[in-house]
This record gives sequence, structure tokens and C-alpha cells, in this order.
Amino acid sequence: MSKEVEVEREIIITGNWKMHKTIKEAISFVKELIPHLTNEMHHVYLAVPFTHIQPLSKECLNSSIIIGAQNMNDANSGAFTGEIAAKMLLDIGAKFVLLGHSERRHLFHEDNDFINRKVKRAVADGIQPILCIGETQSEYDAEKTHEVLKSQLTECLKELDEKQLKNLIIAYEPIWAIGTGHSATLEIAQAVHRFIREQLGEMFSEDFSKKIVIQYGGSVNIENAKNLLDQPDVDGLLIGGASLSLDTFCQIVNDRQLNQISKGSDI
Ligand code: PEP
Repeated sequence: MSKEVEVEREIIITGNWKMHKTIKEAISFVKELIPHLTNEMHHVYLAVPFTHIQPLSKECLNSSIIIGAQNMNDANSGAFTGEIAAKMLLDIGAKFVLLGHSERRHLFHEDNDFINRKVKRAVADGIQPILCIGETQSEYDAEKTHEVLKSQLTECLKELDEKQLKNLIIAYEPIWAIGTGHSATLEIAQAVHRFIREQLGEMFSEDFSKKIVIQYGGSVNIENAKNLLDQPDVDGLLIGGASLSLDTFCQIVNDRQLNQISKGSDI
């Protein structure tokens, strides 16, 4: 891959609220957050519970906050009690969806094949997918990180081309770092993000790999957010716990606002 080419990639900070906050709490959160975001601010995404998508989409209409979902089914409709389809999410204002979050993979037994069908549905129906990938502690200890990520990327993105995936975001979330308070070091995050970018370059094209946004997730907090974002191949953050506190989330987002937001890297 060329080392000379500079590419500008957006910084996208996503809060994953999981199963937290009532609608009232959620609305008051975004009402307070919005005035702290300026026009130059790159997008702040919030992945919220299904019930919160419509009221929050309305509340965030004229702001830079983008509202999305944490999951969806791969089917268009049918007898799938308790599930939700992409078109239903779009109907209520969702613009993106998290797919393959480790909690979905481990607590709800979602495999790469199912996630692949969801990515296909998302791109067919026009909702932006954020594909989460990451290795377990034991896979990390056994030095299988690259192997695991390569198969997650290959299997979750199979039979899709770069045109279909032009809005795809990848979130690298080492499972050993999620909710543990032990974030990946800056060196690990950068090296793994670079590896992911190179894999995508081999699977699709160098151009595709240079443009794709790769977020880091796993125990991001006020102390480590800026340094993680300063890594050349870390283009954003996927934040769980720290996105629930207005003060913390606002500080993470505003740190970037005060510095250079747009970035690029040589590959
Ligand atoms: C997550 O659940 O996606 C996550 C990164 O959580 P936390 O930031 O709490 O580790």
C-alpha cells in the first residue's frame, strides 16, 4: 500500500446506551447536549433503545446528532416475535444500526453468518451499518486476534462489494476491554486498526480501506479518549458506559471539538 496518500476521514463518536435510560431521561440528555455541539462538529451518533428512536430523532432533527438502533433482524418481515426490521427502524427515524455487538454475539448467540445477512439487509434497505468485531480475552491471550478479526471481516462481509459498503463503519471492540475498565493500549489499538484497514484493502481495494471509518470501543473514558483518537488509524469511538453520563460524554466529544477533528492517515 502507498505510504504517501493522505486521506481525510470523518471522526464519528457513537454512544451505545444499551438498555439504559427512560425516554424522559433520554430527551433531557440530548436537550442538554445539543447546545454544546457546534457546526464544525463531526457527527455524534447515539445507539438507543428501540422505543427511544422516534422521540429522539425528532428532538435531534436540527442538530448534528444522528440517532440509530442497537440491533435488527435480517428479514424484511415475518413471524419473528420480538424482532424488528430495517424498514421499521427507518420508518421511525433511525439512520444507522449496530450489528454484531459482542453482547449480541455472546448473550444472544449471533454468529458471523447471521450478522452477514443483517449487513446485507442493512445495505439493501439503506440503513448505515456499524459492524462490531473483536476477540475474546482467551483469543487475545492465545495471540489469535488477527485470525479472529480476519474471519469476522471475511464472513460478516461476504458477498458484498465496496459500492454496497460505502457507508459501512467498522467498530473494533476487544471483548476483554468492554465494560472492564481496561482499555486497549494506544499501541494495541493502533496496530489492530491498521491490521483491519489492511485486511479491508485486500478484501476490497486500497481506496476503500483508506476511506472507511474504524472506531475503537472498550472502556473509553475522559482520560484515554483523546489519545485513542490521536492514533492515525482510529477514526472514532464506540462508547458504552461513558456515554451515559452527560458530563463525561460531553467532555469526550468537546475535547475533539477544541482540537482538530478531521484527520487522515498514510497507508
Ligand atoms: C460497548 O458496549 O460497546 C462498549 C464499548 O462499552 P464500554 O465503553 O462500557 O466498555
